[in-house]
Amino acid sequence: MRFVSYFLNDRLIVAPETLVENLDFTPVPFGELPQIEPQLLNSSFKYDEKLQQVLYGKMLLFDELQLPLKTIQEHFENGFVMYNQGVIKTKYGWQCKRCGNEKYHLFASFSCFRCKSENCVYCRNCIMMVRVSVCSPLLSWIGPDVKHKSDHQLMWRGELSAGQQIASDCFVEQVGNSGELLIWAVCGAGKTEVLFHGIEKALKMGLRVCIATPRTDVVLELAPRIKEAFPNTLIVSYYGGSKERETPAQLVISTTHQLYRFKQAFNLMIVDEVDAFPYSYDKTLQHAVSGSVRNDALRLYLSATPSGKMKKQVTQNKLPCVKIPIRFHGFPLPEPKMVWSGEWKKRLERGKLPPAFLKWIKSQVVSERRAMIFVPSVSIIEKVTELIRGHVEVIVDFVHAEDPLRKDKVARFRQGDIQLLVTTTILERGVTVPFLDVVIFGADHEVFSESALVQMAGRAGRSKDDHNGQVLFFHYGKSLSMLNAIKHIRHMNEEAGF
Ligand SMILES: [Zn+2]
Ligand SMILES: [Zn+2]
Repeated sequence: MRFVSYFLNDRLIVAPETLVENLDFTPVPFGELPQIEPQLLNSSFKYDEKLQQVLYGKMLLFDELQLPLKTIQEHFENGFVMYNQGVIKTKYGWQCKRCGNEKYHLFASFSCFRCKSENCVYCRNCIMMVRVSVCSPLLSWIGPDVKHKSDHQLMWRGELSAGQQIASDCFVEQVGNSGELLIWAVCGAGKTEVLFHGIEKALKMGLRVCIATPRTDVVLELAPRIKEAFPNTLIVSYYGGSKERETPAQLVISTTHQLYRFKQAFNLMIVDEVDAFPYSYDKTLQHAVSGSVRNDALRLYLSATPSGKMKKQVTQNKLPCVKIPIRFHGFPLPEPKMVWSGEWKKRLERGKLPPAFLKWIKSQVVSERRAMIFVPSVSIIEKVTELIRGHVEVIVDFVHAEDPLRKDKVARFRQGDIQLLVTTTILERGVTVPFLDVVIFGADHEVFSESALVQMAGRAGRSKDDHNGQVLFFHYGKSLSMLNAIKHIRHMNEEAGF
């Protein structure tokens, strides 16, 4: 977009070229304008409440606001809206102000009809949202805050386990303060319930709350539970393709990716599965979290398997932490057993399964229990499935991230229509199925980190009626990750008093 700049009453004004009639001004791409200061707030200006609601606490492009350019410009001139640069030039290259990306190879340029430049630079890192380029301003709301209603009520009437209670109390105490807190809860501890009382306190204090998670599945699973617990609260979920976005909810449930849209919005940020891919790997996602919270916000992290970095911060007393070492049902975590299965790779190449694994498969079929069989790569998934099918009569299927039938297969597995499900690590989190055993085929493979193994093992024994599921690591030589995973689980059980 091209803008013109001029002085009005000694103040520098900028405006989109299409709104300026005086042709003496030379329009330039937005990024080439001189430094823009916010205009003084004109309190007698009647602002558009819809714009306030959509833009409050966010950073959005003109295209994301379905309002006439003129309306937005009036809000700028009266000090209610600010134009910020979308992509800026830095000493070494470029920086995207929406996602924080600074990697040279993640910028490109195109011939832009809006600013008439042949080389309008844009950010490729957040291109899945509307394109942000040097010439597209990011708009923010600098007028009065949205007032949220205050009759929030927690309608959840369940009881917390002793471990949950301790973590919940600790969280409640911190609400209203700034800083960080890690809740390190074993798989199956019931971390959602731990959040309820703290969220209630925050809402009643008028604070804006966000629950962010790296995965869309989790948003979809969490949203109805949170909505049921807080029926009087306006709650909106954000994920790729979600529709509810225009409402200024006091409680937001979002994928970490969608946080790019927010700016200085939240007083309480809860990051679920803080260790999960891709959040832990992607610096720009961490930038999204930092950018979306207020400076005095409280950040609460939830994890069953915190990263090495986080654990170190905990031991150095730099990160306050409360542990829930025991599952909701009060039984210990099943400890994995290691089963040597020889050169499983070579055997597979010859079209054979390791004898130890085969023996287990046969006994599993007789037990009529379900099992998740994790394999290290998608390339062997069909082969392993076919070979298993050759030995058993029950229904065996496979699932991986790109599988179009993924949801359907997981649902059938849950219902018991599929007894043995061969899967990649995509099912390492989130899925809860009773009467389940967990097997890791090729557990020594480098793709299986300590935390991945702990998460996979954590699928077993989650229900009270079946708390002692079996976890087996089939391997060709114990890896450090395997040993550490077992140590991790034992340690948690010891902390829980077993
Ligand atoms: Zn970007
Ligand atoms: Zn352009």
